[in-house]
Amino acid sequence: MAVIRDVMPAFQLYQPTSVADAQRLLEQNREDALVLAGGLDSMDWLKDRIRKPKVVVDLSGIAELKGIRTTNDGIAIGAMTTLTEVLRHPVILEKYGLLAQAAELVASPQIRNQGTLGGNVSQDARCWYYRAGWPCYRAGGNICYADTPVGRNREHAILHAERCVAVNPSDTAPALIALDAKFVVATPKGERVVDAEDYFVGPDLDITRMNILRLGYLLTSIRIPATWASAQFYFEKVRDRNVWDFPLMNVASAVKLSGGTIQDIRIAVNAVAARPLRLKNVEDSVRGKARTAATGEAAGKLSVQGAVPLQFNAYKIPLMRNLVKRAVGGVEEASWAS
Ligand SMILES: Cc1cc2nc3c(=O)[nH]c(=O)nc-3n(C[C@H](O)[C@H](O)[C@H](O)COP(=O)(O)OP(=O)(O)OC[C@H]3O[C@@H](n4cnc5c(N)ncnc54)[C@H](O)[C@@H]3O)c2cc1C
Ligand code: SF4
Repeated sequence: MAVIRDVMPAFQLYQPTSVADAQRLLEQNREDALVLAGGLDSMDWLKDRIRKPKVVVDLSGIAELKGIRTTNDGIAIGAMTTLTEVLRHPVILEKYGLLAQAAELVASPQIRNQGTLGGNVSQDARCWYYRAGWPCYRAGGNICYADTPVGRNREHAILHAERCVAVNPSDTAPALIALDAKFVVATPKGERVVDAEDYFVGPDLDITRMNILRLGYLLTSIRIPATWASAQFYFEKVRDRNVWDFPLMNVASAVKLSGGTIQDIRIAVNAVAARPLRLKNVEDSVRGKARTAATGEAAGKLSVQGAVPLQFNAYKIPLMRNLVKRAVGGVEEASWAS
């Protein structure tokens, strides 16, 4: 556990003005470097003296990483665009309201003013033990402190846990998956574009990372295609406090209706596993069915198949069942339709 008796360890701060320069700095300094976006996650590690990078590469001076522009096929959002800019943007509000609502429910206004979309989807796990510097699996050790009979695991995973039971805490991630967003990553070998759901990594692939970023990689932008523009959207987040709090769970869906029938659907949940989960089995089961409470009910039941609760988070199973039920079946007063 971190014991703080001193000042934050010194580091060299670099403020590059291009992605190429930032990558060069990351490649030169390798494990000694830390990428800084809005700083809400990364500064915590520094202030707690748990990570002690020699070099910090601040992306805030890179103009090409900022802003939202319309493209031939939707919109592109720079990774360093703040959450406030995202949730206020007229095109996002008009066509991709799902993302605006998710961004608006992140933390508090101050955090949204400073936190970036790229940082929000790239943030690290919030497990108490890990954040306090305990040498658990995710930190390179050989134990999970949360997954014990007395571990504090109320916020932890009910699905796809493998040694680590921490969850991905991002609110915008499931909305981006439901909108079929593509993440653009600058790698030392050139640009790579991945589906939103493939950006995230679970402990089965790599227990020390939450996403595909490796040394020298930068998330540069997120593209949202027009495919799901102005669909019927639903976003719901459940948290302990109504402001400044991470999700206990959230759900995002985009539904295309033909008459009352679900013609197509994308649905994702977060804070149930180490990566946000797209629920393909639910999508397949409800396509072509009437959008009714009964369809939602069946979808909710299907979504929790295989879920395994820990000592203190059994409530997450009915919670997920009900969130999915509403995201599929629809709730008139709570739905977010643009
Ligand atoms: C008190 C508090 C409450 C919060 N509540 C919520 C909440 O309710 N919901 C929610 O979703 N989030 C919440 N957050 C997270 C917050 O909203 C930020 O989104 C998040 O901390 C990271 O955004 P950032 O821009 O500050 O990135 P940083 O903290 O600077 O970076 C986060 C991580 O991503 C990496 N990174 C960032 N950008 C890039 C990039 N372009 N390329 C490569 N790597 C990158 C950094 O190296 C770092 O590892 C909360 C944070 C705090 C402190
Ligand atoms: S849940 Fe993951 S991050 Fe938390 S103590 Fe266990 S291994 Fe570490």
